[in-house]
Amino acid sequence: MPAYAIIGGQWGDEGKGKVIDYLSRNAHVVARYAGGNNAGHTVLNEQGEFRLHLVPSGVFWPQVTPVIGNGVVVDPNVLLEEMDMLVGRGVDVSRLQVSERAHVIMPYHVKLDLLEEQARGGGALGTTGRGVGPAYVDKAARLGIRVGDLLDDENLPGVLGRALAQKNRLLTRMYDAEPFALADLVATCRAWTERLRPYVASVDVTIALALADGKNVLLEGAQGALLDVDHGTYPFVTSSNPTVGGAIVGLGLNPMALKGVTGIYKAYTTRVGAGPFPTELNDAIGDQIRQRAWEYGTTTGRARRCGWFDAVAARHSATVNGFTSAIVTRLDVLEGITPLKVCVAYQVDGQRTTVFPGADALARAVPVYEELSGWTEPTAGLTRWDGLPRNAQRYVTRLGELIGAPVAVISTGPNRHETIELAKVMG
Ligand code: GDP
Repeated sequence: MPAYAIIGGQWGDEGKGKVIDYLSRNAHVVARYAGGNNAGHTVLNEQGEFRLHLVPSGVFWPQVTPVIGNGVVVDPNVLLEEMDMLVGRGVDVSRLQVSERAHVIMPYHVKLDLLEEQARGGGALGTTGRGVGPAYVDKAARLGIRVGDLLDDENLPGVLGRALAQKNRLLTRMYDAEPFALADLVATCRAWTERLRPYVASVDVTIALALADGKNVLLEGAQGALLDVDHGTYPFVTSSNPTVGGAIVGLGLNPMALKGVTGIYKAYTTRVGAGPFPTELNDAIGDQIRQRAWEYGTTTGRARRCGWFDAVAARHSATVNGFTSAIVTRLDVLEGITPLKVCVAYQVDGQRTTVFPGADALARAVPVYEELSGWTEPTAGLTRWDGLPRNAQRYVTRLGELIGAPVAVISTGPNRHETIELAKVMG
């Protein structure tokens, strides 16, 4: 009963969409387990270019059941819009399943997200403003609305009314904002339900049945390990667990079913939003990477901060996730940059360390670099290892050593087929 997880090893945007779409040819279920529409997964294949925020990136394969697990927070407006977009472009979404236990991002969550971020002033976290954090807050506070609640027409006004009493006090008294009317929200929920009902399912059962049948289940990470609320650079993190534990909880998955956990890394590092980033390049090379790779957020359009590959952070991700293999993406972007630097340790308060520290110490960490020779030959679109320039091979091999997991797949371009497969990630 094999399940395989693909998890961002950095601060997100590693190219999960592309890789999940590529790997899904061998999957029967592809499952999102955490985060919400703060994720932006870009897929480029024969059907076109797609930016997905909630629908799993395996949706393009006819044998795949794409599922949204209980650990995800779902904004039905965004989900329905995304489904309409896919259908409008000829993609079949009829097999999509949404967990009845997934929490709903309500309009007041979106509003509170923006107000809370404004109130943080100079200490803003750089949230995507999509209501994801406040929805997780309500889940933990037991004030959340679940997808299953939307279907329960009789109880919905009561459940929603309880949550709204608290939210409206917060909005009006703390933020001087307009309250929401219960009747309007109930009407909104009923409109959502009319369309969503056929897709709501017990996703844990779907997955257990697929596993019992010996089918491949692919777990699609969102964000990245360094944004994990427990294992990332707190407080500059997301509100869920993108790491492997989040996949178990976020789907109700039997942990013994996990046969592989693969970390996906860009060949360099990027970060969106605030927070420490020791290898950040505030220079011409950083600008060159950003322009060449068009490092602007899929969800927000914000410029991503760019820097050298940080192997200390990468190793931390590998440790907390137990990565059994690694995927390196965007190798093509580094063409023509020489030498290439890789951070192999930090100096923190005069001490050399290879341990990834907490956010305060990380802000004081000075990277210790190893230099590797770059290459000038083009690598974009290559599909064979022996076609790669020798120095690109050395670079990838060194990243695998430093991460502590062998590199199984290299991505050389955004398109599905621009991929070098060195070893099987699944079954
Ligand atoms: P995700 O959130 O991890 O799926 O990553 P994003 O979709 O936000 O960002 C990845 C971007 O890189 C997208 O525009 C992809 O099309 C693109 N991409 C993925 N792999 C490669 C690659 O190997 N080379 C290049 N040049 N672009 C890639």
